[in-house]
Order: sequence, then structure tokens, then C-alpha cells
Amino acid sequence: MAGERILMVEDERAVARGLEYGLTAEGFQVLWASSGQAALAMTRREAPHLLLLDIRLPDISGFDVCRQLRSEGFRQPILMITARDEEVDKVLGLELGADDYLVKPFSLRELISRVRALLRRAYGELAAPAPDQRLVFGPLTIDAGRLLALRDGQPVDLTPMEFRLLRFLATNPGRPYSRQQLIEAVWGYDSEVGSDRAVDVHVRHLRQKLEADPANPRWLVTVRGVGYKFEP
Ligand code: CA
Repeated sequence: MAGERILMVEDERAVARGLEYGLTAEGFQVLWASSGQAALAMTRREAPHLLLLDIRLPDISGFDVCRQLRSEGFRQPILMITARDEEVDKVLGLELGADDYLVKPFSLRELISRVRALLRRAYGELAAPAPDQRLVFGPLTIDAGRLLALRDGQPVDLTPMEFRLLRFLATNPGRPYSRQQLIEAVWGYDSEVGSDRAVDVHVRHLRQKLEADPANPRWLVTVRGVGYKFEP
């Protein structure tokens, strides 16, 4: 796949120009919206393959844009751009439906690597759905074919990233993984910046949704000094 359309939502002209230059050099088509309302209108009209979404915009916030697009059924990947570290907690905590985030300042190389990983994952999975594979651990069933987790037969509402993390860990039960290994395997990139917190937050959400006692998890176990493993 080449020439994917990326909608860049960024109100600072100089930043936008720099990103546009870098993305165009990599073969992407870049559309530019400088406000939240413009981003909504352009997404509806142009159906971009991916959104780069700054949180701080002059009218409505990037959070509002993300929430609104997801509620309208826009399924394409959204990469949130945060100005400060504290905003990361909000991106992760609100479950807005963003696929990933980057904290300013970031290198063009890091951005391109994230964009490529998101596109590969989004369109690769659509093109080749997971095999019809079910993993069963007592009351927990992970249905890779239907992208669904069931607890006591009831579907559990997981975000796509939570599901991918759970499926990866459960496919390799008992094996401990570092946060960096999980980022590479589940998010799909080598990160230059620490994304450990993203792993921790997703594990915490998974425990809250799946475990009978999230403080004493049965399945999603912390391995001290290493990271996490799935205990079958
Ligand atoms: Ca901004």
C-alpha cells in the first residue's frame, strides 16, 4: 500500500509544514486541518486512512474530535499528539478510541515509524483476518476470529489494543515479557521513547475488566523485574 492519505490536525503552521514535508517525502498524501471543526468536516469528506490529531486546537479539543469521529463510526487509526506528559494519562484513561499517542517534541523518524505500524496493523488485519482460533482458560475465552473476549460466556467490552495485548499474552501462556517486548509485539514498533506507561495502563484496564479480584490477578500477572505474563 502506498500513497495513503493522512489528515494532519495541527493549528501551528510551522509544525504542520514540517510534518507535511517529512510525511510527503515518505510517500504519503497529506491533508491539513487547522481546527477541530475543520478536522471533522475533512474526515467526513475525504475519508483519510489515518489521523494525526493534536490535542490542543483553537476550537474544540483533539479529545472531542476523536470521540465524535468514533461515535460516527470512523474506524481508521488515530494517533494523538500531546503537548505534555500529563495529557497522556487522559489519552489512555478516557478510552476515547485513540490507537496511539506521541508526546511533543518527537522526531520525524519516530512519527513515521508509528504511522507505518498503525497503517500496517489496521489495513493488514482487515486484509487478513486472524484465524478462527479460540483460547479457553476456565471461565475466560479469547476468540481471535471474532476479536472477542468472553467471561462466563458474556462478552467483555475491550478496546482493540486491550484485545491485542490479551491475545498476545494468552497465546504464549506462562512466558514473561518485558514492557518493551510487548510494545514491539503488540503495538508494532521499536520505540525511541518510553511507552512503558501505556503497557501498564492497558494491563490495569484488562485486570479491571477480566479479573474477579483485579488487585490479585489470576491471569494477568506481574513478573517482578521483568514485566507481565499470562498465567493459564
Ligand atoms: Ca496545537
